[in-house]
Amino acid sequence: MRQFDIAIVGAGLAGSLAALALSDSGRTVALVAPATRADDGRTTALMDQSIAFLKTLGLWDEITRHAAALETMQILDGTARLLRAPPVAFRAKEVGLAAFGYNIPNAPFLDVLDARIAAQDNIARLASGVTAANVFEHGIELTLDDGERVMAGLVVGADGRKSRIRDGAGIAVRAWSYPQSALVLNFAHERPHGNVSTEFHTESGPFTQVPLPGRRSSLVWVLPPKEAARLRALPAAELGLAIEARMQSMLGKVAVDSGVQSFPLSGMTADRFGKGRIALIGEAAHAFPPIGAQGLNLSLRDIMALRDLLQGTGPADHATIGERFDRRRQADVRSRTLSVDLLNRSLLSDFLPVQFLRSAGLHLLSALGPLRSIVMREGIEPLGSLKAFREGLRERVARKQA
Ligand SMILES: Cc1cc2nc3c(=O)[nH]c(=O)nc-3n(C[C@H](O)[C@H](O)[C@H](O)COP(=O)(O)OP(=O)(O)OC[C@H]3O[C@@H](n4cnc5c(N)ncnc54)[C@H](O)[C@@H]3O)c2cc1C
Repeated sequence: MRQFDIAIVGAGLAGSLAALALSDSGRTVALVAPATRADDGRTTALMDQSIAFLKTLGLWDEITRHAAALETMQILDGTARLLRAPPVAFRAKEVGLAAFGYNIPNAPFLDVLDARIAAQDNIARLASGVTAANVFEHGIELTLDDGERVMAGLVVGADGRKSRIRDGAGIAVRAWSYPQSALVLNFAHERPHGNVSTEFHTESGPFTQVPLPGRRSSLVWVLPPKEAARLRALPAAELGLAIEARMQSMLGKVAVDSGVQSFPLSGMTADRFGKGRIALIGEAAHAFPPIGAQGLNLSLRDIMALRDLLQGTGPADHATIGERFDRRRQADVRSRTLSVDLLNRSLLSDFLPVQFLRSAGLHLLSALGPLRSIVMREGIEPLGSLKAFREGLRERVARKQA
């Protein structure tokens, strides 16, 4: 039976990035997942903290060719409500950055990761599904669907929403759904986007355009499921007209790519993110509706936390790494889940006080630079604003003492 220090189950973006991040100090890693993937026309917006992590993994130079910078993010009220919010623009240069992050198409992103994994001597790519995981005192034995069995001291469950690793460990989930679907597509447009992402807040949910390289953008349009199905069935030219109308022709004429997708909006969090020799990352641990660009950014923080915990440890320490990982990740995952949920529900609510709070919040953001700056830092790096405040205080104390 083959033995590995770490087995990562699942080779989506989360699992593939974990394989590269955790193999860097010479550990032997098995990356286990079926070879074939469904075509993924989605794009992923990664914030500055995530990009910095891709740089430390030496991946950014290859990925950047496919990515577009997010220099400005603007929110426009597209509702016909009594209390409408003013436009708010967040500019990366206000917080001293060239860009908040970058939007990357998933398909070339995965290609870059696959090539890097194939070139890594200490990662074995096992092209099979896992059918069972049995826990022993000294490790976990995985049974693969081709009959092979492998043993690992630590198993990382990156096997998506329906994680077999999570279920096998007896970890329950809390799942919920919203009365909405997300229409997801990419499109070409007549006018340049200027690296601006625009989010229209509408009665049915956000309509978010995110730049891609050239005169192209991706779109996540949250709608009632019937309306999403109707739009998805339209000929591309008519769908293009509907998008252009919704954007008030900001980007001129629109030509929609083939492969329009629709996702029912739902959320899920595991009750815990680790147990014994198992750690859950990515959508095996938490899944969001695709608003607010949170999913993979949070998954990268899972990977950073696990990498940190593994630093300087040996196989003997892996028996309880799951509990330590769980404690490390609870606050971040819970707070992100809550904020995405509140954002979505505040947009859907017809309740006047909720509309008031949302529009008052955006009024404050539009008027107050320092508040905007705190919110922006929070978006880029959670608790970053607190860190910046602490560092500022430390500097002031140091200056006084000098
Ligand atoms: C429309 C949409 C837009 C999004 N936009 C953003 C964004 O802008 N920013 C952002 O940060 N996030 C975004 N996300 C979230 C992001 O795409 C996901 O968090 C990300 O893809 C990570 O997924 P994953 O790797 O955890 O799971 P998946 O991609 O589902 O991968 C699961 C892997 O597990 C494998 N697997 C499953 N079962 C088994 C088994 N039994 N044995 C072995 N392998 C198995 C599968 O084959 C696959 O390789 C978006 C999501 C959606 C739906």
